[in-house]
Amino acid sequence: MREIDITKGIVESHVKSLDKALQSDVVIVGAGPSGLVAGGYLAEKGYNITMLEKRLSPGGGIWGGGMGYKFVIIQEEARQVLEDFDIPFSRYGDKYLSVDAITFASGLIYKASSMGVNIFNITVCEDLLVREGRVAGVVINNSLAEINHLPVDPLTLEAKAVVDATGHDHDVVRTFSSKNDVRLNTPTGKPVGERSMFASTAEDAVVENTSEVYPGLFVCGMSTAAVYGGYRMGPIFGGMLLSGKKLAGLLEEACSR
Ligand SMILES: Cc1cc2nc3c(=O)[nH]c(=O)nc-3n(C[C@H](O)[C@H](O)[C@H](O)COP(=O)(O)OP(=O)(O)OC[C@H]3O[C@@H](n4cnc5c(N)ncnc54)[C@H](O)[C@@H]3O)c2cc1C
Repeated sequence: MREIDITKGIVESHVKSLDKALQSDVVIVGAGPSGLVAGGYLAEKGYNITMLEKRLSPGGGIWGGGMGYKFVIIQEEARQVLEDFDIPFSRYGDKYLSVDAITFASGLIYKASSMGVNIFNITVCEDLLVREGRVAGVVINNSLAEINHLPVDPLTLEAKAVVDATGHDHDVVRTFSSKNDVRLNTPTGKPVGERSMFASTAEDAVVENTSEVYPGLFVCGMSTAAVYGGYRMGPIFGGMLLSGKKLAGLLEEACSR
């Protein structure tokens, strides 16, 4: 066994993955439930899907369940998505399913990546590539450079569409809107800001507001609440799954334009 062979294996495999990501069909920023579902459905159909996650662990806000209690609740309407991603669940009353948060997070990550989503962790999207009034890719960096405020220049990936799946942060849309003189497809032309808790309204709005917010830039999951002014919903996840499923349909259409 030679240590340098192990290193070579890692370097060559990583570069192959990165090379595939350079011209993606879609780059999804944020590996929470909505992004993983959208990415999985699209990758399964053969699209080149790159996912960026700034933390060490993909899975976003699933892991903590509700206040650290390790289950999340999912509405019956989203059951098909759980089945498509092989996530085990138990019935809770007539309308709800109860899912172990750790099984849910790890299952979505495993299934999305085995469907073909090319996930890069410890990788932050710090800006967008914009050409002629259209989002055309992402500007990325190693999260450790950002955390430590190191002056390290970023790299760029091209994509036919970019998704802000960054949750409450709406990091991509927020940065894009603050750095450019652009009008978003929102009531104010800017991110409207998230409202307090109102679960049923929030869950419907997350799906309804899953959309193209600027040419080439889409939002899904919790970032729709921050961008379009929706309510928050707490540890119920059906809306996130259905948002991801809807987004997959929108992106398929966008990729064929
Ligand atoms: C860390 C965290 C913990 C949470 N804990 C709870 C909880 O305990 N209980 C509860 O009810 N709700 C919690 N939430 C909120 C809830 O889980 C969310 O409503 C739900 O997970 C939203 O799903 P999503 O698909 O929109 O993306 P999220 O699950 O919010 O995931 C978004 C992902 O995007 C990543 N990201 C953000 N910006 C960037 C960037 N610029 N580049 C790359 N990656 C980026 C984040 O690290 C995160 O993994 C939490 C959210 C987060 C992010």
